[in-house]
Amino acid sequence: MRSRPVVTIDGPSGAGKTTVSKRLADAAGFVRIDTGAMYRAVALAARRAGISWDDADHLGRVARELSCSFPTVAGTPRVVLSGEDVTEAIRTPEMSMGASAVSAHGPVREALVAKQREMGREGGVVLEGRDTGTVVFPDAEVKFFLDAVAAVRARRRYLEISPPASQPYEEILRDVLRRDVQDSTRENSPLRVAHDAAYIDTTTLTVDEVVAEMLRRVPGVPR
Ligand code: C5P
Repeated sequence: MRSRPVVTIDGPSGAGKTTVSKRLADAAGFVRIDTGAMYRAVALAARRAGISWDDADHLGRVARELSCSFPTVAGTPRVVLSGEDVTEAIRTPEMSMGASAVSAHGPVREALVAKQREMGREGGVVLEGRDTGTVVFPDAEVKFFLDAVAAVRARRRYLEISPPASQPYEEILRDVLRRDVQDSTRENSPLRVAHDAAYIDTTTLTVDEVVAEMLRRVPGVPR
């Protein structure tokens, strides 16, 4: 029995998981675990080691040996891979597709899911990803599934990238749609809504509205 809850937030890219998971973790005093960043880090580490994103066995080893941490520096969450800050390096369009490719392999998922369970074991955590409420913590106390129509999700990504407009909107939309298909049709842990998750469509909601709705459901957190 955990003394503090495990909160999971799953959903497709651009649904708002990153923004609201940060806000929720801050409000609750919980640790945030960005599971997507771990798949991105595997894609980056593999690329640097010359390992193909199709090579399941070698990728599994990369994932098992992954040394990744999420420190907060000057109020901003960073991703550190083997001592190097890779926060920006893992956010390129190439690494988005790479993460989607490597995450389809069983050995990669097994290794990262084990790490995520270990990190969240004691509770007091917010995990964001694709399978955190279905596979990583099926017994999580609070589960959310965030969604939004694809055009809105692509537009959010477009406004988020820097420098602005460095990738055309049409290209981002195409990548969002491609990742949607890849992530929801794969054999290993496809993206799906947990039967006990609260489904929130963020298409027409503000961040404040989404966070308020979520906070109502997390026990023991002042609003
Ligand atoms: O959330 P983010 O866009 O950073 O995730 C990158 C990719 O990693 C996703 O498209 C998905 O393929 C994969 N992923 C996953 N399971 C998770 C988190 C991310 O398969 N729990």
